Amino acid sequence: MKAAIALLLSLGLSAAAQTTPDWCKQLPRPAYQGLEQVSVGGDWFQIYRIRPDVFAIYEPHQSEEVISYLILGTNKAVLFDTGMGIADIRKVVTGLTRLPVSVVNSHTHNDHVGDNWRFTDVYGMDTAFTRANAKGSRDDAQAELAPGEICGDPPAGFNRKTYATRPFRITRWLHDGDQIDLGGRTLQVIATPGHTPDSIALFDAKNGLLFTGDTYYPGPIFLYRPETDLDAYERSVKKLADLRPKLSLLLPAHNVPVADPSDLLKVVAGMQQVRAGKIKPTKNGAKWEYTFTGFSFLMAK
Ligand SMILES: [Zn+2]
Repeated sequence: MKAAIALLLSLGLSAAAQTTPDWCKQLPRPAYQGLEQVSVGGDWFQIYRIRPDVFAIYEPHQSEEVISYLILGTNKAVLFDTGMGIADIRKVVTGLTRLPVSVVNSHTHNDHVGDNWRFTDVYGMDTAFTRANAKGSRDDAQAELAPGEICGDPPAGFNRKTYATRPFRITRWLHDGDQIDLGGRTLQVIATPGHTPDSIALFDAKNGLLFTGDTYYPGPIFLYRPETDLDAYERSVKKLADLRPKLSLLLPAHNVPVADPSDLLKVVAGMQQVRAGKIKPTKNGAKWEYTFTGFSFLMAK
């Protein structure tokens, strides 16, 4: 056995490569073909230019496959989420723009606010859930490092033991319907409670872009945590689906940075069927999974 390992090492294969989890063997996902990749150094993040001034900042080395977005105007930029906080997203952002940057979060789960602490201007929804999460936490962050969750090695200098969601300071409170003017581009805040009480989408009406956060992405949509409200979720996906005639692209917060606006109708229909008891779920660990073409709902038993 030792000889075999020595042979593997001599072939240049690291111990990490031998324990590559299945999810990461499937990458890159097909949706990434044809997207323009941009590099600003470092290998934790992959950056894709989705529109001339819209960048997806993807973290393919952790199973959440979270995606943050840098959205540029002429006067300022919004960073929609700050990712896992495993590598420094601020470095990436400063490599992409010299504009002043305000952080806006799709919601305050740990995988979207990990690097909020590195920024001085952070907008938050005016909810108790947001206030509580801004104090930081450790357990959800640590769970992201469980065996099989990381693909390859974390970046140099990353400390597993001290990894936590660090506290951050909110400098502007947001409400449903607020407009964020970036100069030449306006982002409208659309409250989409359900996945969490503070979930939002950002709507760039001029360009037909809808940043959906965790309310919709192609993949298993997490609807099992105690902060999830299914009535609110159903209303929120309907609200987003109603925007469909004005949309050219959905930019979700996990897995892939491009999705078709017509998916929203399938999500609305799927949720209605689930709630009417018309879909049989399958067991997925301690949860029920309701599967549709291209996405599923993961719910509490
Ligand atoms: Zn979430």
